[in-house]
Amino acid sequence: MKVTEHIAAAKGKTLFSFEIIPPKKGRSIQELYDNIDPLMEFKPPFIDVTTSREEYIYIDRDGLLDKKLTRMRPGTLGICASIKHKYDVDTVPHVLCGGFTKEETEYLLVDCQYLGIDNVMALRGDAMKEQRYFEATNGGHQYAKDLVEQIANMNRGNFLHEVVETDNCSNFCVGVAGYPEKHIEAPSLLSDLKRLKEKVDAGADYVVTQMFFDNKRFFEFCDKAKEYGIDVPIIPGIKPLAIKKHLQLLPQVFKIDIPQDLVDAVEACKDNKAVRQVGVEWAAQQSKELMDAGVPVLHYYSMGKSDNIKAIAKTVF
Ligand code: FAD
Repeated sequence: MKVTEHIAAAKGKTLFSFEIIPPKKGRSIQELYDNIDPLMEFKPPFIDVTTSREEYIYIDRDGLLDKKLTRMRPGTLGICASIKHKYDVDTVPHVLCGGFTKEETEYLLVDCQYLGIDNVMALRGDAMKEQRYFEATNGGHQYAKDLVEQIANMNRGNFLHEVVETDNCSNFCVGVAGYPEKHIEAPSLLSDLKRLKEKVDAGADYVVTQMFFDNKRFFEFCDKAKEYGIDVPIIPGIKPLAIKKHLQLLPQVFKIDIPQDLVDAVEACKDNKAVRQVGVEWAAQQSKELMDAGVPVLHYYSMGKSDNIKAIAKTVF
């Protein structure tokens, strides 16, 4: 079922969902199941699975460094398929521009359709570690909007190079990213919103936001989005702070603000166990306010550990 259908079926009730990151390769899927199990009591209609960009590793061969391209985290799609069938829940694979040619993307989408996956999250991806700016992969897309267009074309039965003849068009529901505090590369929030509108016009069905810690930023973002004619559901992404280092890390990586009250509360903690508790309480408070405001879904970034998400969900749902 599509994310938008789940939202419509909920008739105004706020749904619970979360995102997981595939574990590093060499680990077992049981680790993921162990983190998902405790959250299933909150009946998520869908679970997102992220995709990591390829990266370079350097192998020492008799004193000479050999540069090789690899992926550190295995198959998003395989994980989506196993979670979908184990828990009977919809899964949303994150599909990236970076690292994929258009043809590879088409194969991936054909596989998604074959596996009964109804939703995909269309994202550009970040620059590779060695790059200062995002560079499109040779034969790949430059912006998420172009990827949305490819998916929308497939939904109309238009495959690349017109090589596939089928009456069985895909019918993907497409999510895209939105940034209440603007994307790091965007010159202004309004120009970023203009880009978001282009993604929606290209065929995106809903938006999931970057994390934010001040609901005011989210509410203002939604108001401005509406002014710009963005009329698809906007789902807030919530991340509970978990370690003291997040105070530096999150603003640096995502260019987001952390409210002073939260900074003070985290700085007063004597260890990360206490920080985790502060993170849970803040996110629960945020969630309650967002729910009261009628958001369609509360979507949590679980970052591989679910105890804090469970604690939040218990107080909110
Ligand atoms: P875009 O929408 O393409 O925007 C990127 C930038 O380009 C923005 O600054 C935008 O304003 C600008 N822009 C857009 N169109 C144009 C244009 N025509 N001309 C000039 N500028 C333009 N990353 C991963 O690697 N894996 C994941 O699984 C993943 N999941 C995510 C989930 C969510 C909910 C969010 C919010 C982010 C996620 N990301 C993920 C991070 C995301 O890939 C990065 O934030 C990336 O830098 C931008 O992706 P985008 O899809 O928003 O890009």
